[in-house]
Amino acid sequence: MKEHIKDKFIYEGKAKKLYTLKGKTNKILQEFKDDATAFNALKKGTIQNKGVINNNLTAYIFKHLEKHGIKTHFVEKVSDTEMIVKRLKIIMIEVIVRNIAAGSLLKKTNLKEAQVLKNPIVEFYYKDDALGDPLINDSHAIAMKLANQKELNYLRKAALKINSLLIPFFKKRGLKLVDFKLEFGKDSKGKILLGDEITPDTCRLWDAKTNEKMDKDVFRFDLGNVNDTYANVKERIMI
Ligand code: 5GP
Repeated sequence: MKEHIKDKFIYEGKAKKLYTLKGKTNKILQEFKDDATAFNALKKGTIQNKGVINNNLTAYIFKHLEKHGIKTHFVEKVSDTEMIVKRLKIIMIEVIVRNIAAGSLLKKTNLKEAQVLKNPIVEFYYKDDALGDPLINDSHAIAMKLANQKELNYLRKAALKINSLLIPFFKKRGLKLVDFKLEFGKDSKGKILLGDEITPDTCRLWDAKTNEKMDKDVFRFDLGNVNDTYANVKERIMI
């Protein structure tokens, strides 16, 4: 583990805090919190050990993706709840990939929950809490100057490649990857890298045999003991 000194606080989001690192301009420290929010922060709570679990899971999954050719912001895990990541200018688009119908897709389509999609669906949402993260298309994204067409094409392609790597990764661990959210950003050279996290906060994961929900939906809809769910997912994934 390389020497690093946590310096100035930059930003606090719903699940993480960011800090600068002394003497470094292109890298920052990402600290995972136990706080949990849902429905645009209308519901708030904490999940026991979530910071530790999500830091470990993100490090583990991002290393797996890097090994298979995906460029991410991950540099190294430096404590139970902290990792060093490359500093990115975040593209204000949430990229969602869906393999099985669930969540907000049920309100937009005639698809029924648990219906397996023949081809994955990729969606873009404008990352803006005040507007409630609305669904957008390429023309909206370009009009708002969130990204250009080439970049949108890249986001779609990268998201599908990540999906094709993660489906077997979770399957091996007894989990179905129902859907998930990705965020990308540009590094100091303008290269697009995968940022943020991949955890039960950002993915829907169902037990492969029973379809039991094993993700933040347990918190969102009070479906059971969410502390046990997150601990169980960590046990299953980090083999
Ligand atoms: P939906 O659009 O069905 O609500 O969400 C699709 C997937 O993206 C789910 O796995 C959900 O957890 C994730 N997702 C969508 N928006 C957000 C968000 O603002 N924050 C987090 N953590 N996950 C999100």
